[in-house]
Amino acid sequence: MKVDWCWACKRDHPILSEVEFGAVWRAYQEAEGARFGTSLRLSGTPHENRETLLRLQGSHMPSTVPPGATNRQIRYQPLKDAYEKVTGLKFEGDDPKVILHYRSSFYGPPCPFCGRLLRNERARQCFVCGMDWHDTAKVVCRRER
Ligand SMILES: [Zn+2]
Ligand SMILES: [Zn+2]
Repeated sequence: MKVDWCWACKRDHPILSEVEFGAVWRAYQEAEGARFGTSLRLSGTPHENRETLLRLQGSHMPSTVPPGATNRQIRYQPLKDAYEKVTGLKFEGDDPKVILHYRSSFYGPPCPFCGRLLRNERARQCFVCGMDWHDTAKVVCRRER
């Protein structure tokens, strides 16, 4: 696990190796299976969905779901739990679903100029420092100064 700058969130956050992410994913899938057995569709009002989830969760109801949590927070609570259990970190943020991209395969290699992670493996331009090396013989900086 490393903390790196994420171009999608525009801030630093942990980025798990594929092995670490796999462990989080498995723990999440297990928790989901224990909670619902099958996949779940939520189609009611936030209040109805919360009631449905609370009923389905029964004894699996995580004690850490805060009152006033949104559907998404309740829905992805097991993901947050899995992430925190596997990494030993505390998830900071309002939307646990974002954990799904806290994995190294979501990113490209580091930018050769500023070291921040590129958007994908084929990226030839860095949106952080503005360097563009589509033509490696003529690297340009596209950032307006
Ligand atoms: Zn991010
Ligand atoms: Zn860069």
